[in-house]
Amino acid sequence: MSQQVLSPVDESIVATIEELDVAATDAAIERAARAQVAWARVAPADRSRLLIRAAEAIDAANEELALLEVRNAGHTISNARWEAANVRDVLTYYSGAPERNFGRQIPVPGGVDLTFLEPIGVVGVIVPWNFPMPIASWGFAPALAAGNAVVLKPAELTPLTAIRIAELCCEAGIPEDVFQVLPGKGSVVGWRFVTNEKVRKICFTGSTEVGKKIMAGCAEQVKRLTLELGGKSANIVFADADLEEAASTAPASVFDNAGQDCCSRSRLLVEASVYDRFLSLLEPAVKSFEVGDPSAETTQMGPLISAEQRARVASYVGPGANVAFQGSAPSGKGFWFPPTVLAPVDRSDRACREEIFGPVLSVIAFDDEQEAIEIANDTPYGLSGSIWTREVGRAFRVARAIETGTLSVNSHSSVRYWTPFGGFKQSGLGRELGPDALEHFSEVKNVFIRTGE
Ligand code: NAP
Ligand code: MG
Repeated sequence: MSQQVLSPVDESIVATIEELDVAATDAAIERAARAQVAWARVAPADRSRLLIRAAEAIDAANEELALLEVRNAGHTISNARWEAANVRDVLTYYSGAPERNFGRQIPVPGGVDLTFLEPIGVVGVIVPWNFPMPIASWGFAPALAAGNAVVLKPAELTPLTAIRIAELCCEAGIPEDVFQVLPGKGSVVGWRFVTNEKVRKICFTGSTEVGKKIMAGCAEQVKRLTLELGGKSANIVFADADLEEAASTAPASVFDNAGQDCCSRSRLLVEASVYDRFLSLLEPAVKSFEVGDPSAETTQMGPLISAEQRARVASYVGPGANVAFQGSAPSGKGFWFPPTVLAPVDRSDRACREEIFGPVLSVIAFDDEQEAIEIANDTPYGLSGSIWTREVGRAFRVARAIETGTLSVNSHSSVRYWTPFGGFKQSGLGRELGPDALEHFSEVKNVFIRTGE
């Protein structure tokens, strides 16, 4: 079946893609299973070299990939260049792994004991539409480095960059069928990854709702699973913070990628004593946030991904919503929505509780540190967050008390490929990136050799 891929910028057709059915998915998994056996036997230094070559090929195609993402996903050109560069960096980072993925020698009586980190086999990576390039690489790069084959399903809305990346990897020398991108529906191709016994691990990024279904499906075969799900992260501003800097950086922390970011700081918690002052600093920063043609160098925010997503986001800003101020957005064709600040918002309001995945910020006042922590933790999610304070003791106290996987102090950084990324509570299971990700793509095997006394 063929599927049209639309540009969210002007609703034009960007490409028509052939989608796989169950039989074609099974055939691809079968080929991957065969290719994996040979891939795991490639000498570690050679596997490493091939990953470096893939990184170089992606680097050389940076502008091509970035422009493709601008067309397909409406990402700003500066973001899209960063995203393609992130794929390069993640591949380069894990290219060092094949020669370092060593086990241990454990002292035991009566013999010698060794552990081996074996590849799991075929890994199924399922990717959402919000960051098609980086999220794909956080799965496929460490998986390949650990000796697995990868079948990857991009989101139906945004398959183009992943398809191109797989071609580039193949041209760079990654053997045929070791890394395959399989476009299709989640309910068909993605779900087949869950039910096909030859796929031994799923690496899923997407909504908490679909993640729960996949977890239940994987239980059937005790299939290995990593989940990166939703978030409702808090940006906590204490009265002693550099308020100017906190206010000027807050818009990007929630409106970047039009808010379609699982780490988006979509709840802003402000200490009551500086609430009015902070909002007066925030307003001009929001109103000057540049929304428009994503291919322009200075644009900070493009459109939402689809008409459906825009309707969902708009439902949080309907009658009764306490809109404090809004930025601007183009009208006419394309799925545009202006940066919007709701303030103050009651903690029980759905805008404060549900992941909106759009450019809508909910502001809440708090009285003291304890209350800030309590509000920040009052959500089923626990992915990211920021703390703005000049007091080092408070920064650590609050960071330790917040139930979330990735925090930043006096900054909004979230995902850095050197360090672990993932969620507490219903934001996920397992961690990606950083030095430990390989553990999630390997099985530990223990071998005891009797030597006699
Ligand atoms: P989604 O509906 O959960 O879809 C994610 C991926 O799963 C898509 O490729 C989708 O295919 C596929 N899928 C859907 N149903 C499936 C099924 N029954 N079996 C197997 N695969 C299935 O999420 P989305 O709408 O693309 O993305 C938005 C959500 O993702 C947000 O909630 C956001 O927070 C979350 N997210 C989390 C992270 C993180 O790192 N924690 C990162 C990005 C996004 P189709 O293309 O056919 O829909
Ligand atoms: Mg979906």
